[in-house]
Amino acid sequence: MKLRVFDLGTIMVDQGWSIGGAGAATESNPSPQAVRRPLKIISTLIEHPKAGVLLYECGATPTFEQAWPKPVQEAFAIRGYSDSHRLDKLLNRAGYDVKDVKAIVMGHLHLDHAGGLEFFRGHNVPIYVHEQELKYAFYAVATKEDFGAYLPHYLDPGFNWKALHGSEIELFDGLTLHHTPGHTPGLMALEVKLKNSEPFLLTSDQFHVKENYFEERPLGWLLRDMSAWWTSLRKIQRLAARANANLLFGHDPDMLARYSREAYYD
Ligand SMILES: [Zn+2]
Repeated sequence: MKLRVFDLGTIMVDQGWSIGGAGAATESNPSPQAVRRPLKIISTLIEHPKAGVLLYECGATPTFEQAWPKPVQEAFAIRGYSDSHRLDKLLNRAGYDVKDVKAIVMGHLHLDHAGGLEFFRGHNVPIYVHEQELKYAFYAVATKEDFGAYLPHYLDPGFNWKALHGSEIELFDGLTLHHTPGHTPGLMALEVKLKNSEPFLLTSDQFHVKENYFEERPLGWLLRDMSAWWTSLRKIQRLAARANANLLFGHDPDMLARYSREAYYD
């Protein structure tokens, strides 16, 4: 089994979305300066000895300028996007074509993680996602509740959706999904066991940045269920401690830099 981390580009975000209370006005600082941080969009390629080439999440659609509503682009601004951030080109550079991808595992279905399913339109590749995420995402676009976080362009019944159930799912040998709700109802972290490295725990947006995990600061405006988030934090901490795992969070630039230094972990 091999694992490789892709950099799908930079997104400028007010830190209040990622860290609860960050930038809040106080008595002594009633007008704090708003801080926008450059976060990363990330996808992970896994070469599995039996299941073949797999992806954990697939970033935004390359046509985000057309597909994302203007207020969404204002709040979440993708900067400097070029061919080098396109998932199809990154797969090419790794020696693959989009049609070589045998399965896609979605941590969750927000637009910056699932919009890249557009690259796989017409390929009938199975897309594994927690049933609670699938139900909530279609409901959110149908009712326009939480609209903007999910978009209808990729929430399309034409894709080969495969719902997963329960709190722990071993999808393939050495690849285990852990249901970790809080940011969204059906978020799933992926644990990847490797032979020559410590295992990886890919947490998607349960944690955007390292402060969420290492300083135990919950997500900000993008938190949906505080109580579930804390339970999921404790679950990931237990898993990480048990296996001395490498953690990769949903948007942390430093962690991406660390883990994209090597071409592959195996
Ligand atoms: Zn995200």
